[in-house]
Amino acid sequence: MFNPPAIYADPAFDMACEQFRLIADYLNIDRNERDRLLLPKRAVTVALPIHRDDGSVSVFTGYRVQHHLTMGPTKGGTRFAPSVNMGEIAALSIWMSWKCALAGLPYGGAKGGITVSPRDLSIRELEALSRRYMQEMIPFVGPHTDIMGPDMGTNEQVMAWFMDTYSSYAGRTVTEIVTGKPVYLGGSAGRRESTGRGVAFLVERALDSLKIEPGGCTAIVQGYGNVGSVAAESLYYKAGVKIVGLSDAYAAFYDPKGIDLSLVSAHLRKHPDLTGFQGAQVIDPEEMLIQPCDILIPAAVDRVINKENAGKLKCRILAEGANGPTTPEADEILDQRWEEILVVPDILCNAGGVIVSYFEWVQDLQNFFWNETEIADRLFRIMETAFSAVLKRARTEKISYRKAALAIAVEKVQKAKQTRGLFP
Ligand code: NAD
Repeated sequence: MFNPPAIYADPAFDMACEQFRLIADYLNIDRNERDRLLLPKRAVTVALPIHRDDGSVSVFTGYRVQHHLTMGPTKGGTRFAPSVNMGEIAALSIWMSWKCALAGLPYGGAKGGITVSPRDLSIRELEALSRRYMQEMIPFVGPHTDIMGPDMGTNEQVMAWFMDTYSSYAGRTVTEIVTGKPVYLGGSAGRRESTGRGVAFLVERALDSLKIEPGGCTAIVQGYGNVGSVAAESLYYKAGVKIVGLSDAYAAFYDPKGIDLSLVSAHLRKHPDLTGFQGAQVIDPEEMLIQPCDILIPAAVDRVINKENAGKLKCRILAEGANGPTTPEADEILDQRWEEILVVPDILCNAGGVIVSYFEWVQDLQNFFWNETEIADRLFRIMETAFSAVLKRARTEKISYRKAALAIAVEKVQKAKQTRGLFP
């Protein structure tokens, strides 16, 4: 089955293929359907020249992959990171499809990105690059074709530049072309916090299913960006969870007595990252992941839980805030440890972001906005429905939460494709 084009060569893409193969075997999906379900429908590469502050010109490479067009427009974030390549973006678009299907959203998955370290650009250069990216994507995206959103390395300001560039071309303000915008420019209340809040909500649901009280639990969070910081703060301030470890791309910290998150916030108000934080002991980032804790939240990059460390994890719940943090080899090990570790898989755990993005798109299309309470209420209702469906299937078929989540999602897309025919 499936001989992927060389343009997708990347470990993250291999991982998305392997995950699909396992679930396709489990569901007995016909050979004739497999390539169609897995192979991205459209993949675009663009060259992005910008003027640098020193007068020189640099050309960056940008990507956008639209995985399937069967259930509506595609939807997905935009990643600015040095690791970005076509294969990584394609893998993320596939995971996005399963995530949307699991949550019942009327989208296929998409993803985009630029191979760049945004910290190495000035604000003016970042604006030029963001606008140039959207400019080059105009023929391929649209509010009913493909809707962009934020991901690693992008934020509300970048989304506002995307929206403004698209709107200049359209000759009117088209807020519904991107999600994750500032609230005063058509963004949704609660969008910024949505992914982290969703992670915290599911951690509490998972604890509840194990009959563990959250107060007094300990958590380690890898990646203290949008997702990681909001998840950590929700668990710390609202559920009384002790945060014993946290890290970003530059430093990692551990304190079994608990880290005061107000000190972390104070540090980050003055510094661009966690380097130099004084509120806990520095620890090797790899060592941090295998320290004892109740809840481990990888919320940074993919493939950090692998065959080397999966057997050494000492958590009770692995809540996947990041996309693709666990490799299939690690999954095999975790499957054997299912009585010790409950894995809340990425396509369920971090779905809060795309769910509130969906709300943002709906609100923009009808120019009718909901308040933060309505947003949080609707978000938790969708997450609860998805969590219950996964829990039920996992228990009935005696399979892992990941297998249950993927089975539900892939079946939905498969059914839609079977019903529509070969075209989309
Ligand atoms: P972000 O850019 O806001 O934060 C990422 C954080 O991870 C930063 O603190 C960065 O320093 C840190 N980091 C990067 N590499 C690291 C490493 N090797 N070790 C430890 N820390 C590292 O990004 P984000 O939006 O919080 O996204 C984080 C993850 O969550 C990504 O996998 C993303 O795809 C996923 N995700 C994000 C959203 C969203 O709404 N933002 C939604 C769903 C999934």
